Amino acid sequence: MHIYDTQNVTGWFRSVIAIHKPASIEEVRALVHVARQTKTPIYPISTGFNWGYGSHSPITDQCTLVDLSGMNRILNADKISVNNPVAVIEPGVTQGQLYDFLQSHCPGLGFNVTGSGRDTSIIGNALDRGVGYQGPRSQDIFALEIVTGTGELLQTSFRRLGAASPLACNHPHGLGPMLDGLFLQGNFGIVTSACFRLLPRRPVNVALSLSVRNEQVLPDFINTLAQLKRENLLPAVTHIANRARSLSTLNFGMVSYLENDCGLGHDAAMAAADQASSIVAAGEWTCLTSISGNKAQVKAVLQEVRGRLKKFGYLKVITDQRLDLAFALTHALRFFPLMRAHAAAISAIRPLHRLALGEPTDIPVKNLLWAFGEPEKPAVALDQSHCGLLFISPALPSDGILASRILDELKKIAAHFQHTLYITINIETETALAAIINLLFDRRSDEEICRAHACADALLEYIHEQGLELYRARADSMEKITARHPDYWKKIRELKQVFDPDNIIAPGRYNLL
Ligand SMILES: Cc1cc2nc3c(=O)[nH]c(=O)nc-3n(C[C@H](O)[C@H](O)[C@H](O)COP(=O)(O)OP(=O)(O)OC[C@H]3O[C@@H](n4cnc5c(N)ncnc54)[C@H](O)[C@@H]3O)c2cc1C
Repeated sequence: MHIYDTQNVTGWFRSVIAIHKPASIEEVRALVHVARQTKTPIYPISTGFNWGYGSHSPITDQCTLVDLSGMNRILNADKISVNNPVAVIEPGVTQGQLYDFLQSHCPGLGFNVTGSGRDTSIIGNALDRGVGYQGPRSQDIFALEIVTGTGELLQTSFRRLGAASPLACNHPHGLGPMLDGLFLQGNFGIVTSACFRLLPRRPVNVALSLSVRNEQVLPDFINTLAQLKRENLLPAVTHIANRARSLSTLNFGMVSYLENDCGLGHDAAMAAADQASSIVAAGEWTCLTSISGNKAQVKAVLQEVRGRLKKFGYLKVITDQRLDLAFALTHALRFFPLMRAHAAAISAIRPLHRLALGEPTDIPVKNLLWAFGEPEKPAVALDQSHCGLLFISPALPSDGILASRILDELKKIAAHFQHTLYITINIETETALAAIINLLFDRRSDEEICRAHACADALLEYIHEQGLELYRARADSMEKITARHPDYWKKIRELKQVFDPDNIIAPGRYNLL
């Protein structure tokens, strides 16, 4: 029997015995029937780029990988309009694909993009409860179509009324229990399509950034930004990144500009990027968020936000026009080191600014490839690179003092393992925060892989000791999570019996093994 490995950036993987790429619902159903008959479990992926969480690796050996990337149709393409802002998409539809489609067919609409690559799936990300720049993607998908573990086709919400119903693809809740949630981090079935909420593009869009120099103000900074979220003054996700994290997403852009546009050699470019880094991430923590609306709305919100944040430092308001103007000026004067540093900083910020405004990009992934010496690789090849990446993503209450204390302790634990933590605190909802913590390591070294995993385990143990939990988990940490509250997870397993009695869909993923 041929065995396929599922090597990925986490350095942890399970082998699969076959890879299928179905092109239709009928083919998915046939695969499920065979899986039941042969008692061979299936691991479904949409595009399989769940980088840092396990990518396309199942939890157990001997699975068949069902790769749905070939099912990539926007099923209601001809019906999408500003008055009908819902896309009915298959699992293979990527954020780059949907963005390009809307740009050419309905530029008045955008959607909640993530900071992951252009070729990542919208459904795959939402099913693992990913988070975009406008909020959790779980709030954007509804009315799912699912092939359950029994091979039946189930449609949730009002999609059950049939495609001809005027309600089929617009009401997010339906009538009766909301089943959608069962299939997010649920693995009770294979999702073959879903409705996805699109967002109206507003005439004025600005990104906001503020860097705080003094680490001591972090609790107050978090609380103030969280209050702005609760008051709906900053409805988008506010990302608060530590300096290590900010620089890790900007270095590639800065060095590329300095090498390619200023003709500097690698060492000189690195030194100049270092100088530029004090412009883009002057302090230990830098927040990035965005606001959109009409001119009067944005002006009024900006005035209020500026007033509330004034005590922390200078709020940078970033628009395309300002970036263009500043770049034209500093680029023209790039023979002066200070101007060159500014031009490098602007050139690195530009794609991230566009991201905050809804344009997906590969740049954050390219930063990783560049950091591991493989800038020529395409973003989709991250799992085939030297990059090692583990995400540890604890949910946190919306309490700046507690969040800062927990993060301080996590940093100390990581230091024992000689690891720097790359941290972003996301203000995602009105009541809770999430911290996205990256551990980076070189996968060419077994010692580095082991040390990174030992560090991730120690961080998780501390998170658990504090009565906290992750909001999204890596494939390799499932057993540690389910072992903590076995009775709760037994109940989830009982629930799975209804849709997947043979436990053939992704056994062990967000469930007991
Ligand atoms: C630099 C960088 C930046 C990132 N930024 C973000 C970010 O801003 N936000 C974020 O959320 N993530 C981010 N990620 C993590 C990750 O890359 C994305 O979440 C990505 O979208 C997940 O991969 P995917 O879309 O290919 O989903 P997949 O890997 O296809 O799916 C994820 C999981 O969902 C389940 N699943 C998928 N499809 C189906 C289906 N059809 N039926 C049933 N179950 C299914 C499977 O368990 C699968 O393993 C980032 C990663 C990197 C490296």
